[in-house]
Amino acid sequence: MDKISVDVAIVGGGIMGCSAALALRKAGLTVALFDKGLCGAQASGVNAGGVRQQGRHVTEMPMTRRAAKIWPRLHEILGEDIEFRQVGHMRLARSEADVEMLEKHAAMAREHDLHLQLLSGKVVQEMFPWVGRKIAGASLAVEDGHANPRLVAPAFARAARAHGADIREFTPVESAQWTGQHFEIEAPDLQVKARHLVNAAGAWAGKFLSLFGESAPLTLRTPNLFVTEPVSYFMTKSIAVCGGAVYFRQVERGNVVLGGGPGWGDLTIERARNRADTTLGQFQRAAELVPELEGLQIIRSWSGLEGDLPDKLPIVGMSRTTPNLIHAFGFCGHGFQLGPAMGEIICELVCEGRSQTPIDAFCISRFDTQAVEQKRTAGATH
Ligand SMILES: Cc1cc2nc3c(=O)[nH]c(=O)nc-3n(C[C@H](O)[C@H](O)[C@H](O)COP(=O)(O)OP(=O)(O)OC[C@H]3O[C@@H](n4cnc5c(N)ncnc54)[C@H](O)[C@@H]3O)c2cc1C
Repeated sequence: MDKISVDVAIVGGGIMGCSAALALRKAGLTVALFDKGLCGAQASGVNAGGVRQQGRHVTEMPMTRRAAKIWPRLHEILGEDIEFRQVGHMRLARSEADVEMLEKHAAMAREHDLHLQLLSGKVVQEMFPWVGRKIAGASLAVEDGHANPRLVAPAFARAARAHGADIREFTPVESAQWTGQHFEIEAPDLQVKARHLVNAAGAWAGKFLSLFGESAPLTLRTPNLFVTEPVSYFMTKSIAVCGGAVYFRQVERGNVVLGGGPGWGDLTIERARNRADTTLGQFQRAAELVPELEGLQIIRSWSGLEGDLPDKLPIVGMSRTTPNLIHAFGFCGHGFQLGPAMGEIICELVCEGRSQTPIDAFCISRFDTQAVEQKRTAGATH
């Protein structure tokens, strides 16, 4: 039986856990990270690679802005090219009502120092002739773009290891308890003593709630993704559409990655896959926006297992029941962009008990309040 003692134990080697491991080592703490498989093999490695700030809820703006400042220098921080391309992200409007929505969103974003460019349908046509004619307008986030999800979390893990973190793959954490002074954590042939525990277990994070007498309405989300054969590079922006019906981007080597809508997944057997009906519907919707997509061959399709919450916001912050336990999970299909900032935020929570970036909106207790509120409203109605 191997026995180790560290300042911080992290469950989960996705982008959240791995970026936290690096930040914590840089802050001088001893760190051990455990993943039941390979680092970056779950949601963090199979996502659409979208690095976007626009379209986010107002409470996520400080976090997404913090992350956006890190992405352009991430290759230097990690010492590897993670294929981040700051091509810009364009959200298309199909109606005047959508245009109005984009204007409102741009005004909110401006308050957070994110300056979205609002383009009329005519300007979109002139600047991007490959966009279909039915577009009423668009908003463009020039700082946004995409990266290769296969590369990012493993690169964080390698960088954390190079800085002295103990990264253990194929090490499922089976149990954990708080003794009153420290955590005792068990994995096969391993006992870990840690002052702090980070629950970055993604879709599996519920286990580390119930172990500590907490709960949250965490469910499973399985976004549907697919990729086409490579064609000459023409799509110079990442694309999304108001209403979120479909999103897509072209990589430099020519393939177009598309997503949107539900795939299929089962957490108990750790399987996720695409749904043909979703894929075909999304492809048709995408071709209506960008006609050049029509007729391209789909060469692969997939999905992934991601934690989902009713208000589509993550749970980030201190546990209510257990000292020194930090939760960071339930990113509802849009956590990849946030990952680099989340590592720093988790590090601040460990070191100072609070984050420089506002995260109150993501506290686990918000669901208690909602439940209480729902009960109160139901009581008033009857
Ligand atoms: C198909 C898909 C498309 C997406 N597209 C985008 C996008 O374009 N842009 C964007 O911003 N976001 C996107 N997302 C969301 C983004 O991928 C996630 O929010 C983010 O990767 C979550 O990171 P994580 O570290 O919390 O979770 P994960 O990457 O799932 O990592 C959690 C890790 O915990 C490990 N683990 C769990 N339980 C244990 C245990 N008991 N012991 C040890 N290890 C354990 C797992 O093995 C896993 O590796 C997408 C997600 C999916 C699934």
